[in-house]
Amino acid sequence: MEIKIQLTENPKQKPADESKLGFGHIFTDHMFIMDYDVGMGWHDARIVPYAPLSIYPSSMCLHYGQTVFEGLKAYRTADGTIQFFRPDENFKRLNVSNERLVIPAINEEDCLQALHTLVNIDKDWVPYTEGTSLYIRPFIIADDPYLGVRPANHYLFMIIMSPSGLYYSSGLDPVNIYVETKHVRAVRGGMGYTKTGGNYAASLIAQDEAHKQNYSQVLWLDGVEQKYIEEVGAMNIFFVINGEVVTPALHGSILSGITRKSAIEVCKSKGYTVSEKRISIQEIADAFDNGQLTECFGTGTAAVISPVGHLKWGDKVMEINDNKIGPVSQMLYDTMTGMQWGKVKDTFGWIQPLKPLDELK
Ligand SMILES: *Cc1c(COP(=O)(O)O)cnc(C)c1O
Repeated sequence: MEIKIQLTENPKQKPADESKLGFGHIFTDHMFIMDYDVGMGWHDARIVPYAPLSIYPSSMCLHYGQTVFEGLKAYRTADGTIQFFRPDENFKRLNVSNERLVIPAINEEDCLQALHTLVNIDKDWVPYTEGTSLYIRPFIIADDPYLGVRPANHYLFMIIMSPSGLYYSSGLDPVNIYVETKHVRAVRGGMGYTKTGGNYAASLIAQDEAHKQNYSQVLWLDGVEQKYIEEVGAMNIFFVINGEVVTPALHGSILSGITRKSAIEVCKSKGYTVSEKRISIQEIADAFDNGQLTECFGTGTAAVISPVGHLKWGDKVMEINDNKIGPVSQMLYDTMTGMQWGKVKDTFGWIQPLKPLDELK
């Protein structure tokens, strides 16, 4: 694929204090864009200065939510190398989301070329401080100026990037999670397995209520019986019960996390038994009461591993492992972040170093 490059004439000041990066509000100098038109396919790949988009108020995505996205990171290692963690999985999943939203498939190799090219151009934006990273957001929107309900004929595929700070500033602090018993996020046959805006719109009300009660996120139950565990806001969920690692099986309403998949493989390689199955919230409460529930943690690109210290279900508050990180969570965190920041040898073939520009033609 040929990518036209137009460099900015006004490079922005990079954040001087990397301890204050936070998440998702600072953007790099450039972005990638490509158009799709019926009959032409994806075309006009280009990198241009980061700037507002010009779309019509009638753009279909603004009304009917035909959008998909991905989230991944570029990491800078101690020797200055920049690398990605399983980026091919992100573009594979983007196409899974595309299919559900009737968005035309995109060539995954072209996406990787776009990713490597854009990160090369803005590579000085990959932060240097240990634990920081460059968050990368590929996404597609339908922007036909039309108010009828149908799949669009024109789409934009874009990649924007944002330097992001250390997720845990004071060690791996366990989070408090609240089991949502009123609202549901997704149902089987719906869009729960895709990364599309509507799933997050559906979750805001519960998140808001959880925050009012001082819980950071909600744990969703299945959308039919509201008995079985699904996942957390933007994380998959794991439990350690009686020494066994368990996580809900994927059956259409849960996002298939790349961190989830990797955590399962790492656990198995270290000799743990991992089972993906249907788990009811009642079983978790029983395991807690019997003293068999020793750990609970979330997995996702943002935090990698997020130990759960308190899990609230109705009036029952379960304090897990004395609100401290447990051995499986710590092992996973050390192994996976170690690979990402180049401190632990990648024996799985998951790390992809940034390719130099002249290899990307
Ligand atoms: C992105 C996301 C995850 C985590 O996926 P990763 O690939 O591990 O980052 C989990 N659940 C939801 C709803 C998500 O959007």
